[in-house]
Amino acid sequence: MRPDLLGNPFRNKHTRLQIDGKVVKRLCADGREALPDEYSALLAGHGSVITHCFPHPPEGRYRHAFAWEGEILLRTLRAIREAGLQWLGVLHTHPATPPVPSAADRDGWHYPSLGYWILSFAGGHPDLRLYQMEDGRFHERDYDVL
Ligand SMILES: [Zn+2]
Repeated sequence: MRPDLLGNPFRNKHTRLQIDGKVVKRLCADGREALPDEYSALLAGHGSVITHCFPHPPEGRYRHAFAWEGEILLRTLRAIREAGLQWLGVLHTHPATPPVPSAADRDGWHYPSLGYWILSFAGGHPDLRLYQMEDGRFHERDYDVL
């Protein structure tokens, strides 16, 4: 049976999210290449394990924001489904600010079951943080790199 497209990676409170190290490497490289613009990707896998990323196409990238317009979002979700994966999260970069969700991030997030990942390039090294939205607020969560 096909898994639900919309995943629920935080379902089990005792299971930490995991992300493939190859995916982290690629996100860091892609995010750096997109600087000074923000970069975004949908993260996919199974259960609470992220094994793939689906980057936003370069057109439609912005300096101080990220957005998944309807058609691009639908096309990318279709690719995730066709790969037999679940959508588990969204990542975007903060080119010059810390990996802390902004007010716009909070207001623009409509999928609280998914992971909200921020990759910051403000320091000397890329800094990747994971958040979960609960009761309208972001809470930072631990994760493991596989
Ligand atoms: Zn942000």
